[in-house]
Amino acid sequence: MNENLYALMQSNFPVDRSQTVMELGDGGAYSYAELDEISGRIARLLFAKGVKKGDRVAVQVDKSPENLFLYLATIRVGGVYLPLNNAYTTSEVAYFLGDAEPALAVCRPQKEAEFKELAQKLGVAEILTLAADGSGSLTEGAEGLDPDVGCVHSDGDELAAILYTSGTTGRSKGAMLSHRNLGANTLTLRDYWGFTKDDVLLHALPIFHTHGLFVATHCVLLSGAKMIFLPKFDAEQALGLLPRCTAMMGVPTFYTRLLAHPDFGPGVCKNMRLFISGSAPLLEETFREFEERSGGFAILERYGMTETCMNTSNPLDGERRAGTVGFPLPGVEVRIADEEGNVLATNEIGVLEVKGPNVFSGYWRMPEKTAEEFRSDGFFITGDVAKIDERGYVHIVGRAKDLVICGGYNVYPKEIELVVDDLPGIGESAVIGVPHPDFGEAVAAVVTRDGSADIGEEQVIEACKAKLANFKVPKCVYFVDELPRNTMGKVQKNQLRETYKDSFAA
Ligand code: AMP
Repeated sequence: MNENLYALMQSNFPVDRSQTVMELGDGGAYSYAELDEISGRIARLLFAKGVKKGDRVAVQVDKSPENLFLYLATIRVGGVYLPLNNAYTTSEVAYFLGDAEPALAVCRPQKEAEFKELAQKLGVAEILTLAADGSGSLTEGAEGLDPDVGCVHSDGDELAAILYTSGTTGRSKGAMLSHRNLGANTLTLRDYWGFTKDDVLLHALPIFHTHGLFVATHCVLLSGAKMIFLPKFDAEQALGLLPRCTAMMGVPTFYTRLLAHPDFGPGVCKNMRLFISGSAPLLEETFREFEERSGGFAILERYGMTETCMNTSNPLDGERRAGTVGFPLPGVEVRIADEEGNVLATNEIGVLEVKGPNVFSGYWRMPEKTAEEFRSDGFFITGDVAKIDERGYVHIVGRAKDLVICGGYNVYPKEIELVVDDLPGIGESAVIGVPHPDFGEAVAAVVTRDGSADIGEEQVIEACKAKLANFKVPKCVYFVDELPRNTMGKVQKNQLRETYKDSFAA
């Protein structure tokens, strides 16, 4: 059997391929037949450029339908898709091209000269261009080619994509994902979340990341549904389009931006059945406010990572609990363990480990790093600190590396953030450890104000003292206009640690 992911998609396309798969913000649209044809032509071009099974195709372009077709074309020829965030600088791109050694790279036209120079140095044979409007040497080269290419046979274990992890510390690592990893995970998600051909998904996520590229796109393509495909999230535009949608997938900031808009209300959600959030923690406060303002929608929060695709989800039917990421998905095993790998009991805090067909096979050309992050029984050590409560809901408490050790006591930032977030006048908070001459590390809170009440450092500290053990109480509080976040909505704690590292310097 051909386990090529594209073959799996094709077998789930609607019988009537004239149906729309993608609508654009400007009124343009593509049918399933067009998606198949255009990706077929690009696949033909990739073959002509010498891309063979297992060859990497590196892509740093703006989100567009053609960008998606290029992804599908790469899968069809058996290539390994390697998407890169547009925010990466030339020196970062040089690292990725040098590490992954792609056979071909596709870049924005304005970056062509830079890419060609890099390509020459690093031995990348071909550079093509693709602009946000779909023009460029990629689409020109594919024009008129025979779209009837089928798709290369895959045994399922072969790689479909390499996604470099955010790499907040040290060198970025390329997570190797197979056709089977991606196929198995999205079939599970499609069924768990009840996607059908009648769904219309608002797709405003970037497609260089697992969330927008795999979770969102695959749920549509594996159910014969439709998506409204937008280059980026804009609350005003989303409000105009949501009444035609049945589902939305977003990072928490999408939800806070919708809530910040005075026009958001039940009318906008009249055809919606599902709001999904992930990639970063959703504040309980956002969950509750959204439920109130939307006319009763409980945002469904799920949890995953580049290396594992999706691991857990709140249920479609059944209670979606704020502040939790729900249950392990069918076929996925999740456990909480201590540093030595001993499995911990209910409600005990430790590192979340995961095993299943969704879990990647390792980091590209880093066998030692890979070995370090897997247990001998095949569980992957995620590095996320979590607990599982008596009802089986998984709670993410933070990242192992975010743990603050103050005078020998472990402090989980999430616990303090929950207390601080609750204070009148506070918008949100990020708790970090900063070097301290006496305690090793001290707890510091970086917070935003929401304007609802006057609040200063002293009040935050006093309020924490009333609720938390002394060693957990922030020793200093910094007020900022906004917390630094990356494109996926994750607070950049590294940046905060760097900014405030001298808080207690002698
Ligand atoms: P990435 O590989 O960029 O998708 O980042 C994965 C990381 O994002 C995970 O290891 C978690 O730390 C975090 N993450 C993803 N989803 C959630 C969630 N629902 N709640 C809390 N953290 C999350």
